[in-house]
Amino acid sequence: MKVTRRNFLKTVSFSALVVALTPRSVFAAPNNLRSIRTGLQPGGKTRLVIETSSRPSYTLSYADKQLVVNLSNTNGKADAQTKLANGTLIKRIAQIQDGSLLKVSATLTSMIDAIDKKQIMILEPNGDNEYRLVIDFVAGTGIGINTASAVSTKTATKPVVNNTQKTSSVSKQHIIVIDAGHGGKDPGCIGKGGTQEKTVVLSVAKKLKKKLDANGYKTYLTRSGDTYLKLAERAEFAEKKHADLFISLHANANPSRDMKGFSIYTLSEKASDEEAQKLAESENAADKIDVNGFEQFSKDIRVALSSLQQHAVAELSEEYANGCAKSMNRASIEQQKGPSVRHAPFAVLRSTVPGALIELGHLSNKSEEKLLKSDAHQNKLVDAIAKSVNSYDFDV
Ligand SMILES: [Zn+2]
Repeated sequence: MKVTRRNFLKTVSFSALVVALTPRSVFAAPNNLRSIRTGLQPGGKTRLVIETSSRPSYTLSYADKQLVVNLSNTNGKADAQTKLANGTLIKRIAQIQDGSLLKVSATLTSMIDAIDKKQIMILEPNGDNEYRLVIDFVAGTGIGINTASAVSTKTATKPVVNNTQKTSSVSKQHIIVIDAGHGGKDPGCIGKGGTQEKTVVLSVAKKLKKKLDANGYKTYLTRSGDTYLKLAERAEFAEKKHADLFISLHANANPSRDMKGFSIYTLSEKASDEEAQKLAESENAADKIDVNGFEQFSKDIRVALSSLQQHAVAELSEEYANGCAKSMNRASIEQQKGPSVRHAPFAVLRSTVPGALIELGHLSNKSEEKLLKSDAHQNKLVDAIAKSVNSYDFDV
């Protein structure tokens, strides 16, 4: 059957947050709609907020100038407070009760593109508010809205990635920034055999770029040669490229020469453990080589990031990092003892782009230093990371 993106709805789900309609949840107490409101956000974004009595389980459907939020097991409310702000892309909002499914249908003033996952979040109750489903979007041309990635709302319990989506001419090409740590006058850590972190990670970064390009992504390297870049410049680069994902590659060193294995980190202002804190300090120290521009950028970015965005970016980063750890485990790449994903205040991760910092292994360990230098092991790492990108759910 020939379908076009214009005549079909795209039904997708934010799978991490969708509760499957299992027999048990059918008997769960229904959710109740409380209010609907819209507003304008910086950058001309339209924000739609749907407030409900309990955590919403939802999918989105798009059609021409129509955005439908399907809330499962939810009762509508005829007199729900609906506040429509001026100047947004939403003209009108209707509620349609379809059995236990509530459809909140927004009539738009223009077409929109597929809504990026990081533009959707569920907020926990606070103060006078109950649960809120918050969706941000801008005017577009329908890019990324195609039937190839449609998934059933009832079976989506796991992130669903449809490979055809990546080659489809109408789907959005996702942008990935690969950051090879250190460089130039900053060698990073150095193994006993003299292997420098900056060299290993650049080699892996280039291989990863090649692989991801072949898989249909648009990729950029923060550095493609032996050059020194400030941490802030790396984060800023990802911002400027409007990256969907940021992957920073590093290798580790530990006073204990027995310590080995990879570890994956996401940004948190509070470190998950002392070791993670120390590692962040040593990675952040790269900037102390000269500049102090980082502090300022970091402050600017933090001001620019609303707490909503921070929340969404952190959630997506965590999702990617967990998937990456799984992919590395599946490839039988040795993991450092302890949790597979940790958190620490890494300067390079301070941006609005979801991402993770991967310590590929320990150069301080003799056998791992040898591995990290070898093409075969670098390819193994690249394969595992590329798979983690493929299985990351970019869109909703
Ligand atoms: Zn490093």
